[in-house]
Amino acid sequence: MNTTLKNRNTMQRAFALERTRNIGITAHVDAGKTTLTERILLYTGTIHQSGDVHDGNTTMDFDDIEKRKGITIGAAAITAAWTPNRAGAHQHRINIIDTPGHVDFTAEVERSLRVLDGAVVVFSGVEGVQPQTEGVWRQANRYHVPRLAFINKMDRVGADFDRVVAELRTKLSANAWPVLIPVGKENALRGQINLVDRQLILYDPSDALGRNYSVTEIPAAEHDSVERARRALVEALAEIDDSITQAFLEDRDVTAQELHVAIRRQTIANHFVPVIGGSAFKYIGVQPLLDAVVAFLPSPVDLPPAQGTNPDTGEAVDVIASDEEPFRALVFKLSTDEFSRRQVFVRIYSGQLHAGDTVLNTVTGRHERISRISQIQADKEIALEAAFAGDIVVVTGLKNVVTGHTLSAEDAPVFMAPPSFPDPVVSMAIEPKTREDQERLGVALQRTAEDDPTFHYFTDQETGQTIIAGMGELHLSVIQERLLTRYKADITAGAPQIAYRETITVSATGEGKQIKRTGGAGQHGHVIVEVRPGAKGSGVVIEDKVVGGRIPRQFIGSVRKGITEATRNGSLGGYPVVDVEVDIVDGSAHDVDSNDLAFQIAGSLAFKDAVARARPVLLEPIMEVECTTPSDYQGDVIGDLNRRRGQVREVIPRGGDVVVTADVPLAEMFGYANAIRSMSKGRSTYSMTPSRFEQVPAAIAKSAVGQRKN
Ligand code: GDP
Repeated sequence: MNTTLKNRNTMQRAFALERTRNIGITAHVDAGKTTLTERILLYTGTIHQSGDVHDGNTTMDFDDIEKRKGITIGAAAITAAWTPNRAGAHQHRINIIDTPGHVDFTAEVERSLRVLDGAVVVFSGVEGVQPQTEGVWRQANRYHVPRLAFINKMDRVGADFDRVVAELRTKLSANAWPVLIPVGKENALRGQINLVDRQLILYDPSDALGRNYSVTEIPAAEHDSVERARRALVEALAEIDDSITQAFLEDRDVTAQELHVAIRRQTIANHFVPVIGGSAFKYIGVQPLLDAVVAFLPSPVDLPPAQGTNPDTGEAVDVIASDEEPFRALVFKLSTDEFSRRQVFVRIYSGQLHAGDTVLNTVTGRHERISRISQIQADKEIALEAAFAGDIVVVTGLKNVVTGHTLSAEDAPVFMAPPSFPDPVVSMAIEPKTREDQERLGVALQRTAEDDPTFHYFTDQETGQTIIAGMGELHLSVIQERLLTRYKADITAGAPQIAYRETITVSATGEGKQIKRTGGAGQHGHVIVEVRPGAKGSGVVIEDKVVGGRIPRQFIGSVRKGITEATRNGSLGGYPVVDVEVDIVDGSAHDVDSNDLAFQIAGSLAFKDAVARARPVLLEPIMEVECTTPSDYQGDVIGDLNRRRGQVREVIPRGGDVVVTADVPLAEMFGYANAIRSMSKGRSTYSMTPSRFEQVPAAIAKSAVGQRKN
């Protein structure tokens, strides 16, 4: 018998697929995601002593730069095991896919959401729902990711569980209801009430690591308030779940089991968000959160099959979560480890993968051998003989791979849609310091762009400079540090510049001619196009409306190519042209002199001519900025935002502070971190997320254009 086959038949998966949870933990920076992850790894036995963030020795942040910045950048996946605290419960596997909270790293959030089956979203019990979390929440909606909300920091002064639950409903439109309510608050935080099971969970104050806790019945004194809260939960479910509606109408008690089933069903359907309060830092409420992950978040088999297409026929294919199906996996993260080895993280959607297998990359069409499969457990990498549907693993051996590629069984190819990534908003010119740096820079930039799809680099045609572009100042500064520490490529960087765009405001017609008849081979290309403003975010849409063969069929491709090239550098400042509909309407050809190049040039000239007549304007990225400041500085902060062309949307008191939300052009936000610090003696904080692109006022457009041309 073939040995591979024999291996396959005897190979066992360690955990039943139904007992797998692939989850992300996501949060606004500083809400406590790192601390919570550390606690989870402590209780799941993956690490023995929980690290605290300020020590710089936490497990998830294995990247040096991240340690220093205190921001988790890499979407590393960690595998853990958890047995819920319930009679007869089985051990489950929880794969934690790290997602960053900082919006500068949206690509990481996007790609991890793509491979998650569920998420725990962490909120601060003091700061509540913050703008970056709103962004992440919207992304999670788009990918239909079922969620639990963990309201953290309930030990801190000013923490207010009910207020944050209310914000989940008003700011995020979430149907959010508490299932585990914190008991006591601030210094007196002691445990939780489990509303579903009617239990009191109390932590043993003598155990500093929160490993020991008791689970008892609700004391008589608390009975009425707990029943009221439970009834509110039941009513909320009665509105969306038929089984609870029935019980509610019959006016009978809803059992814990019935509630469990309904909450699980509605959470997975994205109609309900269970809310849990606790404190990661004080080790309170983490184990019940893990129980809730198992109880309410889906396993791969609870979700509809992932969607793929057959690359040969274009037919839609359901990728069904089962070991018996052909192997299909998505590459969701590439990273370079500290020994310069490439780590390729894949999520297996169906089938099995064995070390030594050859798979098909359906994007490149290459057949490649997987030499090694491994799994990351906190700081260890464990080699595996095989991996199965639902698993998240690191594979070695692929030569030609980038994020978003699909790997597939050779005889059953499937292409799965890659995650989508936003366009960069900031760019800067860079220069290597020495010749050696220059040599290293080429590979370094290429690797970095492969690892991070929101990072772009190119050569400016006019100046010959190397330009890097990304999601923000911080994103580019982290990349600059990484070029130095990981690739030893030292660079000097120019000031960050806004990644503007150009568009048009009215319809117009333009003509382009490339006609030469001066002896030898002539040229004849002649194109007329019409342009009109397109929908926001539609990019450039080109249509062929030529009748009667005035431009022969075989040259239309060249005309399109010429137009596409012309959209890369607009006439105002050389920025990309977006949101334009282009119709190729007319032109002419010559029997002998017409060729591809002539039509390409004519297409490009016609497009430029039309855009110049269509009142082109510059677009700039607008950020949503949220500042939290003591009320003493409120006037200064608002005055300063106004000077930055900001539009203040709301000012809300919170504790002794006020929270100011404003829309501000990114162009005015450079150096804001220092400005707000000095304005308020370091007592204000702020965050910002990209909101949209908007037209730059004419007076300002002039200097923005000048900036690029200089
Ligand atoms: P992240 O940026 O979301 O990963 O947040 P961290 O886990 O790095 O936490 C940010 C800061 O908040 C750190 O100083 C933590 O020690 C602190 N912190 C995290 N969780 C809690 C909590 O439950 N209570 C209190 N009081 N502080 C916390």
